[in-house]
Amino acid sequence: HENRQLQIAITVYGQGNRLLLVRDVSRLHQLETMRTDFVANVSHELRTPLTVISGYLETLTDGLEMNPDTPPVFKRALSQMQEQASRMQRLIEDLLLLSRLEATEPERLSQAVALYPLLSGIVNDAKALSGENQHQLQLECDDGSSVTGDTMELRSAFSNLVYNAVRYTPAGGKVLVKWWQDQEGGHLMVQDNGVGIDPVHIPRLTERFYRVDKSRSHVTGGTGLGLAIVKHVLLRHEARISISSHPGKGSRFICHFPLSRINQTKTINV
Ligand code: ADP
Repeated sequence: HENRQLQIAITVYGQGNRLLLVRDVSRLHQLETMRTDFVANVSHELRTPLTVISGYLETLTDGLEMNPDTPPVFKRALSQMQEQASRMQRLIEDLLLLSRLEATEPERLSQAVALYPLLSGIVNDAKALSGENQHQLQLECDDGSSVTGDTMELRSAFSNLVYNAVRYTPAGGKVLVKWWQDQEGGHLMVQDNGVGIDPVHIPRLTERFYRVDKSRSHVTGGTGLGLAIVKHVLLRHEARISISSHPGKGSRFICHFPLSRINQTKTINV
């Protein structure tokens, strides 16, 4: 049947015996598609009412700010409501992005994405995110480097890694963003000297909503979807991530791109 999806495995055992295993995974695929569609639809439906709520909250805040008799407790309540509304907005945007990454075929990932302008933009935004915390951010990347892929997707992936490095590193800490190429491909490293991650958590970090310390993540303002987005974007670019960390000393995330995805032109001096 044309809509059937089968998983077939052949095992050879003993003296030339063969075992053929056929597993019908159509139902599993169907359920997976239903789950992805459901999440995408719910997120989409939540977007409009939330935009309306945020708009009215802004109007109310402006009004109350102008009135000298406004009790401080009202101001605090409103600022909490605005903060939570924007957290919900970030969550919805990330859920929508993740659904898109899961549901669409990675066919148009053929732009030559210049890395230096992309990464320096992200690093500048991360400086703004750091604000008074004054993290020291350093970028090492040759001007002509590029990856064949999708600019928007790569921006999401790299910015999640860089913002995480800032968010999980105490004030004044160091964050290094470095791109290099070798005979295996291109590598983007984001390294910090922040809180680090216990190695037991590393294999599960890219699962959606997996967090090492739930209470801390709420303070840092993340959605719990950042590394899941990174994983999917990299998969679509035939790339992979490696994570290493020492609790209390810092973490290192490296995205490895295959040779087929990087700009391999060499400069020849004449
Ligand atoms: P979140 O929005 O919670 O940051 P992510 O998917 O981006 O979600 O990250 C998952 C978890 O991985 C985080 O909750 C945090 O515990 C851990 N993590 C990610 N990046 C770092 C980092 N640079 N240093 C320490 N922990 C990190």
